[in-house]
Amino acid sequence: MKSCGPCTLCCTVLDIPELAKGPGTPCRHLSGGCGIYPDRPTPCRTFTCGWLALEALGEAWRPDVAGFLIRDERDIGQLCIDVEPARPDAWRTAPYYGQIKLWSRMVHDQTGCVLVYAGETTTVVFPEEEIALGHVGSDPTLQVGYIRRDGARRPLVRLRDGETILREWVGGAVRADS
Ligand code: SF4
Ligand code: SF4
Repeated sequence: MKSCGPCTLCCTVLDIPELAKGPGTPCRHLSGGCGIYPDRPTPCRTFTCGWLALEALGEAWRPDVAGFLIRDERDIGQLCIDVEPARPDAWRTAPYYGQIKLWSRMVHDQTGCVLVYAGETTTVVFPEEEIALGHVGSDPTLQVGYIRRDGARRPLVRLRDGETILREWVGGAVRADS
């Protein structure tokens, strides 16, 4: 059974409104371990990162080793990666990047998408490319898929507010129309 051990990465990377703590900033109660452990708020008590939850992920994926944690929110169609501010590109290295690209195939099956949160920048990972959205908030409503445009199928991301499309990003051609 896995345990957090020396890792405290979620205390830095997560957005915890109950603590007035934004993403990517260390919690003011963090000093070695949690300074208010018996009284820590509910999100701290209930959070389980993907490394703890997914038995198949070995020690290299422990968040303090990897430089990012995984939030498994596939029930709402998202596999989220929250990166350590000091190592924003750790997810792009081996052995992580290849596996993250495999996970991103969810978008082909229309079962979800992989989002990487690095500071103010959110990146959507497609099997074919990554689309950096810049700052879209910590809980954006995103539509992720493909669109046929200019004679080719292309990765598509839309930032939505209900039926309204606030912004749209279209990637490069995946394959030419036949
Ligand atoms: S990121 Fe995961 S392993 Fe690290 S302290 Fe949080 S729950 Fe534990
Ligand atoms: S209150 Fe404790 S467990 Fe919660 S983020 Fe702060 S240091 Fe971590």
